[in-house]
Amino acid sequence: MANPGTVWLVGAGPGDPELLTLKAVRVMNGADVALVDDLVNPAVLAHLKPGARVIHVGKRGGCKSTPQAFIEKLLVAEAQAGHAVVRLKGGDPFVFGRGGEETAALDAAGIPWQIVSGITAGIAAPAAAGIPVTHREAGRGVAFVTGHTKEDAAVDWQALARSGLTLVIYMGIARCEDIVAALRAGGLRADLPAAVIQHATLPQQRVVATTLARLPADIRAHGIGSPAILVIGEVANAARLAAQTLHKHQEAAA
Ligand code: SAH
Repeated sequence: MANPGTVWLVGAGPGDPELLTLKAVRVMNGADVALVDDLVNPAVLAHLKPGARVIHVGKRGGCKSTPQAFIEKLLVAEAQAGHAVVRLKGGDPFVFGRGGEETAALDAAGIPWQIVSGITAGIAAPAAAGIPVTHREAGRGVAFVTGHTKEDAAVDWQALARSGLTLVIYMGIARCEDIVAALRAGGLRADLPAAVIQHATLPQQRVVATTLARLPADIRAHGIGSPAILVIGEVANAARLAAQTLHKHQEAAA
């Protein structure tokens, strides 16, 4: 049950509605009102109770984005009105989801909040392409990085290149060319495996397995757009292998 006057920040997972947690379903079912981001699969909204209000605050779909300050005011106002509020976000609310800004605004207004973790795209998208984000024989760890930053908070790509970590990049399509150039300048080899996964875990999922140097051209050639996750590192080779295996199975079945 979602308590009145409380805001629940709920992760809706990467896309496939079955990747929702049981807790997300339970909390949604108790909510009076839901503020919904655009990356949330509409199928997920079936778990709201009949008559629950749905407010779309997303950026896509031709609508202008709802300013973050307005979303925060709305969360506070709905909770103060005594409603059980669900804030539904794609993936995990605290991974590149501005969840931290919203909980700070709620704290400032004295509104109680709870969080329901979701499966983040940075783990689910590689997995859906057959890529394990960590592997004992490939890399010492993984860095989750945004390709979209304010000028004053630029990512040090060259340092990341030297870190030996597998790179999982959110929102990286628009600046892919610059990111690849910076990683190459940092010493990553041209033929390092790389992959891009668009619409991960959804029926329209697309995977392109390539190399670091060819990544920008392949993204263009295949017409890959947002939302997509980039994976750079030895583990990305698994996407190529998975694709080949799939191909073989399809050939065998034909
Ligand atoms: N909170 C979300 C991330 C929001 S930022 C999470 O934890 O997953 C939005 C970015 O997430 C997109 O630009 C894209 O890089 C990534 N993303 C979200 N859903 C995705 C999907 N189904 N397939 C590929 N990338 C996705």
